[in-house]
Amino acid sequence: MSPSILGIHHITAISGDPQKNINFYAGILGLRLVKKTINFDAPDVYHFYFGDALGHPGTVFTTFPFPGARRGLKGIGEVTHTAFSIGKDSIDFWEERLKRFGVIISDRLTRFGHPLLRFEDQDGMGIELVANAEDERMGWTFEGIPLPHAIKGFYGATMALRSKDLTENLLLEHLNYHFFDQEGYRFRYGLDGKPGQWIDILQEPKGQRGIQSAGSVHHLAFRTPNEMTQLEMQQSLIKLGFGVTEVRDRNYFKSIYFREPGGILVEIATDVPGFAIDEDEAHLGTSLRLPAWVEGKRKQIESSLPPVTFQPENYV
Ligand code: ZN
Repeated sequence: MSPSILGIHHITAISGDPQKNINFYAGILGLRLVKKTINFDAPDVYHFYFGDALGHPGTVFTTFPFPGARRGLKGIGEVTHTAFSIGKDSIDFWEERLKRFGVIISDRLTRFGHPLLRFEDQDGMGIELVANAEDERMGWTFEGIPLPHAIKGFYGATMALRSKDLTENLLLEHLNYHFFDQEGYRFRYGLDGKPGQWIDILQEPKGQRGIQSAGSVHHLAFRTPNEMTQLEMQQSLIKLGFGVTEVRDRNYFKSIYFREPGGILVEIATDVPGFAIDEDEAHLGTSLRLPAWVEGKRKQIESSLPPVTFQPENYV
């Protein structure tokens, strides 16, 4: 079978205040705001993309910020934690930096042999930084974070499910994944073992269902190389009985969506064309980009969105 799934493409979360959202991900975590656009399905809401220098697939955390949104509740049927990858000697740097900016670290622990920090953003979104020596990606940084300590992209994601069985079957039989390891109720699946692909299923048979709102992951997208492999995936998932959407044009990639058996919204997104199609690389994320089909309503859209800025000097 062709390598039709290559790992995690992006993870999209619902958040509250857009300015605080930028301050946290671009400022404190030092990700690059590679695209400032709108939710294509709700043009009065921003869609921010944070990633490495170019927003390569596997590095992109995206948010739909709703000002004043109430907090969700982490639980079953959700991606409860998004893990980013950092260098093996970067834990102390991040512990100090997060504390300096008032982020409360809830845990410092070792999982599958890797030290990690666990904390939440201002909306309660679950984040982990996993130290490892296996990640050759460069990451993106600015003055406040020396490059060796920069976040390199995703490490993986944790799905909380009552039972792992049906989702495991989907991963193993249809998404190219393999079972790698188990620690307690946590089951780990990957492709070739590199950061940026890990899916952990945390099995909690009596867990409460999550409530999706600010601080919740909205969906997780897997990478597929191109539109052809995407269509193959769409057809094979439809044959399996999944309700898969038509292909949607997200400007920077094409997408299909379905719910995995545990209820989590999953997307399969193409690696191409990427974020440099409507802005040059040096200026990614600096102005509001709109898809061609709503460009005519730019004035109206701009006036409905709260203004946001990013001041990197505040995060040195
Ligand atoms: Zn998406």
